[in-house]
Amino acid sequence: MANEQIPYKIYLDEQELPKYWYNLRADMKNKPAPLLNPVTHRPMTKQDLAGVFCEELIEQELDDTTPYFAIPEEIGNFYKMYRPAPLVRAYCLEKYLQTPAKIYYKFEGNNTSGSHKLNSAIAQAYYAKKQGLLGVTTETGAGQWGTALSMACSYFDLDCKVYMVKCSYEQKPFRREVMRTYGASITPSPSTETEVGKKILAEHPGTTGSLGCAISEAVEKASKTEGYRYVLGSVLNQVMLHQSIIGLETKTAMDKYGIKPDVIIGCAGGGSNLGGLIAPFMGDRIKGKLDCQFIAVEPASCPSFTRGKFAYDYCDTGMVTPLAKMCTLGSGFIPAPSHSGGLRYHGMNSTLSQLYADGLMEARAVLQTEVFDAAVQFARVEGTLPAPESSHAIRVAIDEALKCRETGEEKTILFGLTGTGYFDMYAYEKYHDGKMSDDIPTDEELEKAFAKLPHVE
Ligand SMILES: *Cc1c(COP(=O)(O)O)cnc(C)c1O
Repeated sequence: MANEQIPYKIYLDEQELPKYWYNLRADMKNKPAPLLNPVTHRPMTKQDLAGVFCEELIEQELDDTTPYFAIPEEIGNFYKMYRPAPLVRAYCLEKYLQTPAKIYYKFEGNNTSGSHKLNSAIAQAYYAKKQGLLGVTTETGAGQWGTALSMACSYFDLDCKVYMVKCSYEQKPFRREVMRTYGASITPSPSTETEVGKKILAEHPGTTGSLGCAISEAVEKASKTEGYRYVLGSVLNQVMLHQSIIGLETKTAMDKYGIKPDVIIGCAGGGSNLGGLIAPFMGDRIKGKLDCQFIAVEPASCPSFTRGKFAYDYCDTGMVTPLAKMCTLGSGFIPAPSHSGGLRYHGMNSTLSQLYADGLMEARAVLQTEVFDAAVQFARVEGTLPAPESSHAIRVAIDEALKCRETGEEKTILFGLTGTGYFDMYAYEKYHDGKMSDDIPTDEELEKAFAKLPHVE
């Protein structure tokens, strides 16, 4: 009967919104390994990072001990315009699947950028402005991060220069126009605007690009332009910190109704939405207060967790960034041009990588066509057209719910619905026409990229 009392959508009111971000690292016994200087292989210092990143974001990046960071008022006020994000009970999906499982999803697509990326974009733009910078550079894959950052920069009156992975630039011209609406300038990557872009083009003529390449270009541009810094939409621990707003809101909403998740599922590109969603729940698990399973879902075409190595690696293709210890396919690995641009990254956030190595989190790799089967089922019964990235989480949530149908278990499943798919209709078209392929890298291809991992003592 208790079920009946839970509404379709659980919203929080303004006073219930989180006032702090949560830094999961503070509660981890095994901390993620520090970033290393790519030349000396010594831990990166604030000075090492200051030429590329904003000061206050560096503080957040290097802090493994402070559990809570107050959300500045200006950022909190921006959050109020599009948050809280609803936590939805997927009654219609449950009925369609005929499962005794209870399914919930946290929907982050309710803003113009269409994804969770705005949560960190607004924070990063705020700190850049506070430092008196003129502008920021960045990369974007599918375009969600570039859009979110464009919105955040226009709000704080900062210049925004975006390097967009070439295959997405071509597949998603309207994403570009949204960014231009917010005043950003966009360059397809790899480009001839940077030294590293020219080098990558010479080595891989005709390449459709990758996030790793675009990062190298954006970093080079920021470090060579006065008054500019580089900002990143995922992978870094500061981004995961800002995204903890997702998990904190979810936990507050669930606590209100006495709901405890048994399984939490999220898609993983660089790991920021998943890390943010699970953070407070994982903190409770580490403290022995919650018994819960955590599942990261990645594309079989870019399987950083399930087939990668846990090793120090560059965060970019051009090998200009610090080294991070993470689950990685090697910075030289360029995945097949799949339709989930936001998940085409060779590495993974170092905190999530450590949790995975310690057995606190599991991972699954799924095929693109199976992801779209799930996307279409979800769109038809739940009324929201999901992003291909988010649909990775839907796939595994459906699989888990179907298992419950077999076993009769009434598990509570929570997943992150990170965004909407309105700019991904080219991908949906391929799927409907039966022209979507499932690319899986061979062991030889992976070994080739592993061979180039840096040697760190
Ligand atoms: C960028 C993106 C992702 C993946 O990024 P993470 O940092 O792993 O969260 C997932 N879903 C959507 C809609 C995105 O835009």
